[in-house]
Amino acid sequence: MTPNTDLNIALFERAKAVIPGGVNSPVRAFAAVGGTPRFVQRAQGAYFWDQNDQQFTDYIGSWGPMILGHGHPEVVTAVQAAVLEGFSYGAPTEREVVLAEQIRALMPSMDMVRMVSSGTEAGMSALRLARGYTGRNKIIKFNGCYHGHADALLVKAGSGLATFGASSSAGVPADVAKDTVVLEYNDVAQLEEAFAKMGSEIACVIMEPIAGNMNFVRASVAFTRRIRELTQEHGALLIYDEVMTGFRVALGGAQSLYAQQIPGFAPDITVMGKVIGGGMPMAAFGARREIMEKLSPLGPVYQAGTLSGNPIATACGLKTLELISRPGFHAELHLKTGHLMQGLKSEASAAGVPFSVDWQGGLFGFYFLPELPTTYAEVMKTDGKVFNKFYHAMLDQGHYFAPALYEAGFVSAAHTDEDIDRTIEAARQVFKTL
Ligand code: PMP
Repeated sequence: MTPNTDLNIALFERAKAVIPGGVNSPVRAFAAVGGTPRFVQRAQGAYFWDQNDQQFTDYIGSWGPMILGHGHPEVVTAVQAAVLEGFSYGAPTEREVVLAEQIRALMPSMDMVRMVSSGTEAGMSALRLARGYTGRNKIIKFNGCYHGHADALLVKAGSGLATFGASSSAGVPADVAKDTVVLEYNDVAQLEEAFAKMGSEIACVIMEPIAGNMNFVRASVAFTRRIRELTQEHGALLIYDEVMTGFRVALGGAQSLYAQQIPGFAPDITVMGKVIGGGMPMAAFGARREIMEKLSPLGPVYQAGTLSGNPIATACGLKTLELISRPGFHAELHLKTGHLMQGLKSEASAAGVPFSVDWQGGLFGFYFLPELPTTYAEVMKTDGKVFNKFYHAMLDQGHYFAPALYEAGFVSAAHTDEDIDRTIEAARQVFKTL
């Protein structure tokens, strides 16, 4: 296809004239891998079709929500029925109650939940709640974890160990960033040092239990256990950001997996998004009753939203949760994702390409590194040129992975073994050229 006939290129040019970078969320612009983003016309099951009508096997699934694949007929029917009843009321509905009950049944660390419209909003609100509950200002986050774009969370590590953060975005006042302490993921010694230094000032630790924003890095069990102990000892709250992992790595989220290894383990506050709305704008945060009762209108921590608990989003989320609650759903998904990961790994090793993989449920990560990384710094040792070459060769053949080496991938229930075999077969050829 020449640039003159490639409709993605033409649309990208138009988009750039009216939308910054041509996209409404930066990673969509392909800045990390170069080239032209694919503009999606429509999607069904495991596939989408771009502006040129090229078919892609979709290993992003809207960055997580589409765990059932696109356009699952039962979800579509539920959404259509909801649309006919009205788009939004700004008054409570039964579906919100049922959804909150469902979430509580599946993730028992939450007695109560509050619904919002994006993961960013949920993370920002959880942070305010933790600060309001503890009466403290400082928060700890980890390098390589993303929790949405609230000011206090757009912070990177400052100089020196366990010092206060520096904003990672223009427009975030230094005054806001100064209360955010950024530590290395999986670094127990640094965590202990931070708590020894300022434990009584820390409102919360916020983390991704499996970090999908540095591709796929698990928190070690030792790290997880120590975070739980230190937060409890010092009266700080532990916030699990399960926006990506919730209902995806296991029905009970990543916290259910850690609870199998650390008896009695539970975070204090959980932040949810993505799968919970099945592709509609829906997110939530929840915690024990005594924490959640600090929220407005019961308590002094303010939080609100015109479209929160939207009736169409709740219909979509409820049907999605119902379908993924089927016994064996996540075990099957885990096998399927494993098939893809093990297939890619064995083709890479046959071609002599250093490659490592990890996965859980429908979430995966692969690295052009001989060993799995455990920190952001290790993830970023990946050779970007090799990743980009692999990425574009796969894309040309219709296999759509996340367009950046630090992003996770997603498999849905709609992917068949044949889809996955085709992707592995394409990768076999590509690995030989790297
Ligand atoms: N937390 C995590 C772990 C995420 O992966 C994301 C988005 N990728 C967010 C929060 C922010 O969610 P949203 O994009 O819906 O604001």
